[in-house]
Amino acid sequence: MAQQRFFTLAEYLRRRFSLRVRKIPLDAGFFCPNRDGVLSFAGCSFCNPHGSGSGLGKQGLSLAQQWEYWKERLSRKHHAETFLAYLQSFSNTYGSIDKLRSVLSEIARLPDCIGLCLGTRPDCLGGEKLDLIASQPFSETWLELGLQSSNDETLARINRGHNAACFAAAVRQAADKDLAVCAHVIAGLPGETPEDFLETIRFLNGLPIRGVKLHNLYVCRGSTLAGDWRNGSYIPLSLASYADQVARAVAALRPDIVVHRLNGDPAPGELLAPDWAGRKTDVLNAVHAKLQARNVFQGQLYRPKESICA
Ligand code: SF4
Repeated sequence: MAQQRFFTLAEYLRRRFSLRVRKIPLDAGFFCPNRDGVLSFAGCSFCNPHGSGSGLGKQGLSLAQQWEYWKERLSRKHHAETFLAYLQSFSNTYGSIDKLRSVLSEIARLPDCIGLCLGTRPDCLGGEKLDLIASQPFSETWLELGLQSSNDETLARINRGHNAACFAAAVRQAADKDLAVCAHVIAGLPGETPEDFLETIRFLNGLPIRGVKLHNLYVCRGSTLAGDWRNGSYIPLSLASYADQVARAVAALRPDIVVHRLNGDPAPGELLAPDWAGRKTDVLNAVHAKLQARNVFQGQLYRPKESICA
């Protein structure tokens, strides 16, 4: 068996539950202030205007119908026994608290649902919504918060609509309510160097996060980035460079942080570039080969003094 070089989500779930756990993506029809004109209409420069996720919500399937659709497939294909509901598409705490309450109570009634992963922006939370999320009867709740970069110039460049301080404040508020935060970050953002990505990892180390998703930036059809890529002002990372950045990030990452993902996964039809981003197995193989070649283990370069930053 291959040596475990970082704290995977699979390992974390295996320790928590003795059952096979899988995530089910649900589209609850939320939208995003960076898309509806409250902050901008353009969205983050890398964002697919149609949102991520399965698209089943747009086809008119209720949450219960989406759940059954995935549950049946994942039980058959992966012998999954129990499930986490994953609110993935757009910003799933944006809008009224009544809508959020109604969605969460529907999810809590789904059969064999033991937990919730809720993706949102750090500027779409606040005490009342965090209290509501923390009060749900799940065994496991993850708040998946987009940061992307700790560099405010980068955040402005990609039209993120919030800064790093906003993210840090939301993480601390969520942690005070004992919610587990999984931070989303991206390597290869426009104008960033590998050192900038490492600086983002160090920034996360100083915050009470419990998980991280590492993503490679890829160019989506219909995004602002697609125009930059076409006119040559944005050049995607090579796979070798991405694997190198991930290896350095894993070495620098605080050892207790659960690594939920090592790559971004384009939805069918949305990928323009780079080609390698669509070959998940190649990406993961390249990352694992780099970790092995350099004998990298999570946290081997982590220095606890980072906890005083941010
Ligand atoms: S916050 Fe998410 S949904 Fe909103 S524009 Fe950015 S990437 Fe798209």
